Amino acid sequence: MIRKLIGKVLRRPGKRILHAKHYGIRREQLHSGALKVCDKLQDAGYEAYIVGGAVRDLLLGKSPKDFDVATSATPEQVRHLFHRSRIIGRRFRIVHVPFYDRGGEEIIEVTTFRGSADSPTDATGRIIRDNVYGTLEEDASRRDFTVNALYYDPNSDEIIDFHHGVEDLEKQQLVMIGDPVKRYHEDPVRMLRATRLAAKLGLQIAADTAKPIKEHAQLLENIPPARLFDEMMKVLLSGKAWDCLQAMRNYGLHRPLFPLLDKLMSQKETTAFLKQALLNTDQRLAEDKPVSAGFLFATLLWHEVEAGWQKKVAAGEHKVPALVEAMNDVEAKVTKRLSIPNRYSAAMKEIWLLQPRFEQRSGQKPFRMLEQPRFRAAYDFLLLRAECGLVEKELADWWTQFQVCDDGTREVLVTEAVASGKGGEVEKKRRRRTRHRRPDGRRGGGQGE
Ligand code: ATP
Ligand code: MG
Repeated sequence: MIRKLIGKVLRRPGKRILHAKHYGIRREQLHSGALKVCDKLQDAGYEAYIVGGAVRDLLLGKSPKDFDVATSATPEQVRHLFHRSRIIGRRFRIVHVPFYDRGGEEIIEVTTFRGSADSPTDATGRIIRDNVYGTLEEDASRRDFTVNALYYDPNSDEIIDFHHGVEDLEKQQLVMIGDPVKRYHEDPVRMLRATRLAAKLGLQIAADTAKPIKEHAQLLENIPPARLFDEMMKVLLSGKAWDCLQAMRNYGLHRPLFPLLDKLMSQKETTAFLKQALLNTDQRLAEDKPVSAGFLFATLLWHEVEAGWQKKVAAGEHKVPALVEAMNDVEAKVTKRLSIPNRYSAAMKEIWLLQPRFEQRSGQKPFRMLEQPRFRAAYDFLLLRAECGLVEKELADWWTQFQVCDDGTREVLVTEAVASGKGGEVEKKRRRRTRHRRPDGRRGGGQGE
């Protein structure tokens, strides 16, 4: 009791100014756009700092994913200074300042210091609008975790820390600022952020911050599906997707977010498939390879689609229409909680629809299959199914070989497959279309597309 009290007194919030160079942070490590934004705002007489994940990641020796700037300028004042910028958001207005770097557009997110005055909430205590502005100190108290409330001024080379964020990073702990229960009510997504950031950064969620999560997990039901989709994407692309998902399950966060996950993670074979898919994704990200969201959602939902599909086929429906129906059923179920944008769900469905076509190995069908724009991603998906024993390994091996060999060998492979009864349905007579085929017979990219 006394130790707890002493701990609380010692951890009182208060402004600490630290020298960035003692922590190995140098101006040159920052994104040039973020520096320009800070410089221009400061030159115009406003306060401006690099804040949040970028400072945290630099202190951890990691390279930041994105750069955020916090300023005393209002969104309109920021907008006025950067002519290509735009104000976005309603619940939380921020300014996007685009920069063209390394061949692509990079956005620096600029937020105005939030104030401590009460913002309007709904009946559950969720903040529905957060556009009351304030001071730097007030802004720090409105951020989620102590390690995310660090402000770096690239000109004075100082880090401002109001909530012992640097100390917590050194202790490798994730601590919520203020009363965790109140903060989870204000924004339930903070529970997801806690599990994701802890898994991604290898931090322990502090006991007081972790304790209320299980009990308040259902507050996520109140979050709009578009925001939940964004959060789910951050989880899947965190580089520690598998660890994140397990942590989410341990805290019961998966149910309100993605109820199918419960089913998926409670059976041995489906867990193995999901685990393999996510570990492959983590690996691709570690190697700086691109990953496709369509592919990821195809893997997450495949088990449910396959179960529905098999049921319909067993009831006498034709294979392809049964698959289409099963896909639509699952999509309808999922989009109630997560709204998957069309461009991703279209890719996901194409990958699924191509799966039964891998079994068609007679006549011209496999040649036509190679010409499918989504062939590569669908083939990667087939490999994953084979790796987890969901489909014959022989089928995946056959396609691996079929892709790389010349046309003559391909004809032999087709003849052999048909002779051993593995050609699938017999093809009706059609004209060959070899004239239009590329010499290597392949098209399209894989997951990376
Ligand atoms: P990442 O590495 O995923 O970008 P991040 O902490 O930078 O992690 P962002 O979503 O970029 O996450 O948010 C930037 C900063 O905004 C955070 O560091 C935190 O200070 C603040 N923030 C983000 N979401 C919330 C939230 N729900 N409640 C309070 N503060 C938040
Ligand atoms: Mg960030």
